[in-house]
Amino acid sequence: MSELIVVAGGHTDRGRRDNNEDCYDIDPETQIYVVADGMGGLAAGEEASRLAVSMIPGRVMERLLRHDRPDEALRTAIEHVSRYIAEQARLDSDKQRMGTTVVVALVHAGRVFVANMGDSPAYLVRGEKVIRLTLDHTVAEELVRKGALTPVQARRSPLRNRLYKYLGCPDLQDLADIHDFPPRAGDRLILVSDGISTVLSEDTILDMASIPADPDILAHAFVDRALEQGSTDNATCVIVAFDAVDPTSPQG
Ligand code: CA
Repeated sequence: MSELIVVAGGHTDRGRRDNNEDCYDIDPETQIYVVADGMGGLAAGEEASRLAVSMIPGRVMERLLRHDRPDEALRTAIEHVSRYIAEQARLDSDKQRMGTTVVVALVHAGRVFVANMGDSPAYLVRGEKVIRLTLDHTVAEELVRKGALTPVQARRSPLRNRLYKYLGCPDLQDLADIHDFPPRAGDRLILVSDGISTVLSEDTILDMASIPADPDILAHAFVDRALEQGSTDNATCVIVAFDAVDPTSPQG
């Protein structure tokens, strides 16, 4: 991806909830972008998502400096932070069942690496298409993938909010999923919490991402639109925009 400028923006809103268990981070220096959606009683959900967002970028950079492959650096960093969160939960009865989702994007050596655990998705808007890059690790979605539920049944299932893979999971069986791709001029990478993905259709995401606006303004617009469309959850969005260096050159 020679000659691409990467600019990111983000926004979060607690919506109709009393607290905000979502959290995000944008680090232009390391080019690591994170959205996390915490869970757990009392303030445990807030703490878990903040731990993920504050710890993962540093752990990823440590691994990269040791010449890990980027996908391995992401997996290892996320696993370490997951174990740390699980240990905090084990040591403090107020933090039982503390956990968090995470979706992380790393721009490194001409590629974008997206890692996720849980149900905070990443989308790539490229030209006229929106591509969902991540799988949701909910029990209901897994049953759809196995053919045991239809997508319509899954949306009404009580298992739609039950995660089988997340940070802080006491018996973590497998690690984060990774998807990587070479970015092109005009690409918009969109990381959100489920407070956005459960209410905005992919068509709406495509329409909104196609508006030529600053990533911060776009991220605000995504959050506001999700809340207008009835999201009762915390809503968080990070937009990473890839553009050609010469603003007069054609994009896409
Ligand atoms: Ca949520």
